[in-house]
Amino acid sequence: MKSAKILEGHPFDWKQGAEAMNNIANDDGSINWGAAFAADPGVTSCPNCKTYFWAEGTKLECTALGTQFPTRRPKDAQPRTSLNIQAIIYYFFRDFL
Ligand SMILES: [Zn+2]
Repeated sequence: MKSAKILEGHPFDWKQGAEAMNNIANDDGSINWGAAFAADPGVTSCPNCKTYFWAEGTKLECTALGTQFPTRRPKDAQPRTSLNIQAIIYYFFRDFL
């Protein structure tokens, strides 16, 4: 996943995200959803070239074309889900990757 240039808003706290990633599984092996949703900022994509970027801040600039776009668009009603599931899968299979 790429990082776009953040024009407005705050970057995601990756240190905190890494800590959340370490807590993604409860001791009984079940998923700690709170930690899962805090492990990354979710994703967004450039409206022009469709490149995916981390959804940090409130306004981003595409690193390929320089297109500026808001991090959250109305059609991104559930922007976080797919990537958080990726994070969960990564967590459980990281020893095999
Ligand atoms: Zn672009």
